[in-house]
Amino acid sequence: MKLTGELLIGAASVPATAGTMKALDPATGEHLEPDFAFGGAAEADRALRLADEAFDSYSHTGLAERAAFLDLVADKLEAVKGELAARASLETGLPAAQFEGEITRSAATFRKFAVVVRQGRFLQATVDPAQPDRQPTPRMDHRLQKVPLGPVVIFGASNFPVSYSVAGGDTASALASGSPVVVKAHNAHPGTSEIQGRVIQEAVAESGLHEGVFSLIRGAGNEIGEALVDHPLVRAVTFTGSEGGGMALYRRAQQRPDPIPVFTEMTSVNPTFVLPGALAARGAEIGAGIASRAQYNVGQACLKPAILLAVDGPGFEELRAAAIAEVEKTAARTMLTPAIHDTYVRNVQRLEENGATRIGAGPTPVRGWDGQSLLYETTGEQVLAEPSLREEVFGPSVLLVRVTDVEQLLAVARAFRGQLSATMHAEPSDRAAALRLLPILERRTGRIVVNAFSMPQEVSYGTVHTGPFPATSDSRFTSVGMNAIDRFLRPVTYQGFPDDLLPEPLREGNPLHVWRLVDGEPTRD
Ligand code: NAP
Repeated sequence: MKLTGELLIGAASVPATAGTMKALDPATGEHLEPDFAFGGAAEADRALRLADEAFDSYSHTGLAERAAFLDLVADKLEAVKGELAARASLETGLPAAQFEGEITRSAATFRKFAVVVRQGRFLQATVDPAQPDRQPTPRMDHRLQKVPLGPVVIFGASNFPVSYSVAGGDTASALASGSPVVVKAHNAHPGTSEIQGRVIQEAVAESGLHEGVFSLIRGAGNEIGEALVDHPLVRAVTFTGSEGGGMALYRRAQQRPDPIPVFTEMTSVNPTFVLPGALAARGAEIGAGIASRAQYNVGQACLKPAILLAVDGPGFEELRAAAIAEVEKTAARTMLTPAIHDTYVRNVQRLEENGATRIGAGPTPVRGWDGQSLLYETTGEQVLAEPSLREEVFGPSVLLVRVTDVEQLLAVARAFRGQLSATMHAEPSDRAAALRLLPILERRTGRIVVNAFSMPQEVSYGTVHTGPFPATSDSRFTSVGMNAIDRFLRPVTYQGFPDDLLPEPLREGNPLHVWRLVDGEPTRD
């Protein structure tokens, strides 16, 4: 596919109106062709007007037709896997093979959402039939289904340029809900974004859908993002990135005359708690396991296990030595952008200034934006005293915390802010401590892992990728997994309707055979 660098607004390829940029190969520092267009408020307006025009027809597509469109996106993504992976590798410095996996995962996500759409369970179709003879008052016929919110703006993430970006889970779930999508591409990977954008644009056209179902735009600085969030036609926003950026956009959306939901996924250290029995039995295995997973994607992952807490005692030295060995053998690798690299360097300095000691380091970086693998150690007392030690370091570092006893471990657990995930390693002998730790974790996280690691993550029906603030801005909704569709839906009751005016999923005889709650009982009849 030939990259043109244009914005994709509906079916049109639109040239720059606000300057251009070139992609950067972070491994070499060289700029990549072609020039990529920046748009401004006028392009945001054009994309959102088209999305709004598309809404009435797209939100009423039959379930089979919408599912077929999602399957087509998946097929087309797989058809460009080689070139998409190669471009993503150039723009990130990460291996192409990794992206082949990420593209497969994104295609699978689109296909799973196609199944979700066909099954129609997401509609939560509900039928409370009329009870004309009920005493003392009759009941009218009440039927409920979920409807899509309207145009959704998606801020693609820098760190997973496919699965959390243009053709990622946010886009798949919003399209599955029946909401048109406008993606604000991340400037760290413009070519990778264009390839995915063209794939979806083609699928929209081949499916005979309104062109406004999908647009991809890009801009310089905050102007374009602000214009998108302020636009009167946008109904919801998703964002993956920094706490500062996410909260700026969240606050902006709440200050609109008509506030809209903003689902931000921002920051998490994914603490791992090693209880004494597990430490004695498997200390070395856990230390090596955490240190190696923290290197995945050069530590630029929302689920990176960044903080490892273990009670001082049998197994601790083995855990520590294994973690050091793992970190020391890991070469420094290119980080996604110069800015992310510089933030990493500042953040590990912050650890050092606040009472963490460097106990392990990979080989010294030879290139400008390589992130060095690092292991730090501190005490439970220090982590309790210094909140900044409990904050995210985006990059390949781990903080090992030596706690004095289970009481201190529980105190540190209580001190954490909201998290995407938390992990506990426990043997049967740890049961009493585990039962005390679990409710503390439940209050602070969206996913609790036992005797495994926070990564890799499954994209499935049981997946939860959310957590109390600041992990996200709304812990009621997951951004990964099949329930991510719920972010873009709202319930409507249809009261006293004649059958031929009802939406198809609510009609008598259940012509679509979707799961429904009829008088409180689940059925497909
Ligand atoms: P970011 O700076 O928060 O930017 C994410 C996206 O939001 C970009 O498209 C950015 O546009 C836009 N944006 C940010 N602030 C905005 C504002 N005030 N108004 C309008 N648009 C705004 O995140 P990033 O570039 O991906 O990485 C920076 C840092 O974020 C990392 O060092 C890391 O700490 C954190 N991060 C965390 C995760 C995680 O999952 N925990 C993932 C990614 C990043 P522009 O690029 O055009 O400014």
